Amino acid sequence: MRITLLYDNTTSRQDLEADWGFSCLVEVEGSSPMLFDTGAKGDILLRNMGRLSVDPRSISDVFISHDHWDHTGGLNAFLDVKGSGIRLFVPRSFTGRPDVDGLKIIDGPEEIMEGVFSTGELAGIEQSLVVNTEKGLVVVVGCSHPGVESILKAASEFGTPYALIGGLHGFNRFEVLKGLSLICPCHCTQYQKEIFSLYPDVSIQGGAGRVISL
Ligand SMILES: [Zn+2]
Ligand SMILES: [Zn+2]
Repeated sequence: MRITLLYDNTTSRQDLEADWGFSCLVEVEGSSPMLFDTGAKGDILLRNMGRLSVDPRSISDVFISHDHWDHTGGLNAFLDVKGSGIRLFVPRSFTGRPDVDGLKIIDGPEEIMEGVFSTGELAGIEQSLVVNTEKGLVVVVGCSHPGVESILKAASEFGTPYALIGGLHGFNRFEVLKGLSLICPCHCTQYQKEIFSLYPDVSIQGGAGRVISL
């Protein structure tokens, strides 16, 4: 599988725009690409997609982690380009529900497609995406508001976490990350420096344009 960061507070390529927010493209062999979150601004999301040669019309599934503007702001612009034929997975607490046929409201943990899971909405605010791979579970997070520990615990229902990618907010119980083979602490992560110094061999920089092959 492959994850491409489309929208992040920083950028790894000069031709892409950095902006506070998060979005990534999750490509799993055998299924069409899935959009995880949509960043803050639709125009930046679509421009970054264009420069990364990601065609919004090729995406059939969208997963929204939580109802914060820096993750949902680009949704309507994306849907305008995509048109119909979308499945949209949102947590129960998401309020700005667009009028799409394929709206799926997530409460508890569930397998949303083969080998791809939602942790369910945790702490009444946020769901995380869990992809089962040969190496273990790849856990993609928006801001980790429920706490990284709770998210990894919920993900563990489906297997052994291998990678953690996304915003970790103010998370500082660093021992929880022990055992992971890949950490990409980006977006709102406050303690990036500490994570990189504690786990130098497995930590990688985020930034729009970063491609993570797993
Ligand atoms: Zn948030
Ligand atoms: Zn955020």
